Amino acid sequence: MPDNPLDWIDRELAALDERGLRRRLATRTGRQSSRLVLDGRKLVNFGSNDYLGLAADPRLVGAVAEAMAEEGWGSGASPLVTGRGTSHQLLEQRLARFEGTEAALVFSSGFAANSGTVAALVGPGDVVFADRKNHASLLDGCRLSRADVRVYPHADCRQLERLLAKAAGYSRRLIVTDSLVSMDGDLAPLGELAELAEQYACMLMIDEAHGTGVFGATGRGVAEHLGVENRVHVRVGTLSKALGSIGGFVAGSRSLIEWLANRARPYVFSTAGPSAASAAALAALDIIRNEPSRREGLLKRAKTLRRGLAEQGWDVGRSASQIVPVVVGDPDRAVELSAELRRQGFFVPAIRPPTVPNGRSCLRISLTHGHDDRIIAELLMALSIARNG
Ligand SMILES: *Cc1c(COP(=O)(O)O)cnc(C)c1O
Repeated sequence: MPDNPLDWIDRELAALDERGLRRRLATRTGRQSSRLVLDGRKLVNFGSNDYLGLAADPRLVGAVAEAMAEEGWGSGASPLVTGRGTSHQLLEQRLARFEGTEAALVFSSGFAANSGTVAALVGPGDVVFADRKNHASLLDGCRLSRADVRVYPHADCRQLERLLAKAAGYSRRLIVTDSLVSMDGDLAPLGELAELAEQYACMLMIDEAHGTGVFGATGRGVAEHLGVENRVHVRVGTLSKALGSIGGFVAGSRSLIEWLANRARPYVFSTAGPSAASAAALAALDIIRNEPSRREGLLKRAKTLRRGLAEQGWDVGRSASQIVPVVVGDPDRAVELSAELRRQGFFVPAIRPPTVPNGRSCLRISLTHGHDDRIIAELLMALSIARNG
């Protein structure tokens, strides 16, 4: 019998097991909110990016039902062909108004928006400057673009400037960064990045996946919060986190959006998301406008949580947001702590390499709308028991 050519997979999986890095799929029953039922157990949910608590909001569910009655479910083709429904188009117009840009384009995921946009903006003979902690979707976009990629240490503008100064002779240049790092919860130095982009004639693209709906006076994100919106050329957001739906979007100039609709491969060659999913995002935008207390309260409680953790002596890194890591270093220790919290009724995922660098394994606490002061106090108590027990 010849060997099965896929045998290597079992060997690799066993190696992951051995290093404690094998991931297992869990199943959620029912809706997810600040509480969830996971593999049959009821837990307080600190693992969700549903920051404003909208994913199961009846207003979103109602908007989807209504749109579905009109537009059905599947969209049947790429948005360029016949896949772009009424709600989809309305959402693009509303997003442009929300973001204060000329236009916006809705992709079927934030991942597709990021990877497709980077690869449409640069190509061979061009150069991208990318923060080391950029999301995988940005990194994939860089690779797919076949442009030269220069990676700078996280948020290190001095190193970035050094790389910029050495990169003469390229035709297009792009600086790309997350506005809020998904595992660490710190904000990118967008003002300094804009400064450098201007000085070195670069396009500046930011990924607001965790900023949209949460940061800024009107909820537009970290760029609004830091007052640099009109210095950022390409703004990406996701509809699947604070907006409680699914999909991603790019906001920017009319010509940028036209270019992406023609050249971003995940937009051109992939079926549009259900138009009814856009109806959910439209309902979410109304809520974001009418209920600013959701984002304000969230950031206030995040501060309370960070302070409480620091008082107990935990390392929360440079978090300045609703994403709060508890850095413990060793992956086994992170898994142990996560398991202990689970025994106490809290779901707090352990984050290990390759998602974070070696030695930086952590618990990632993701705070959402339903986590009131009492639940936060209970979590702090549980963590203190887990540490001493
Ligand atoms: C989740 C995430 C994305 C991808 O968005 P999806 O809509 O989930 O595909 C992109 N960038 C960052 C930083 C993210 O955390």
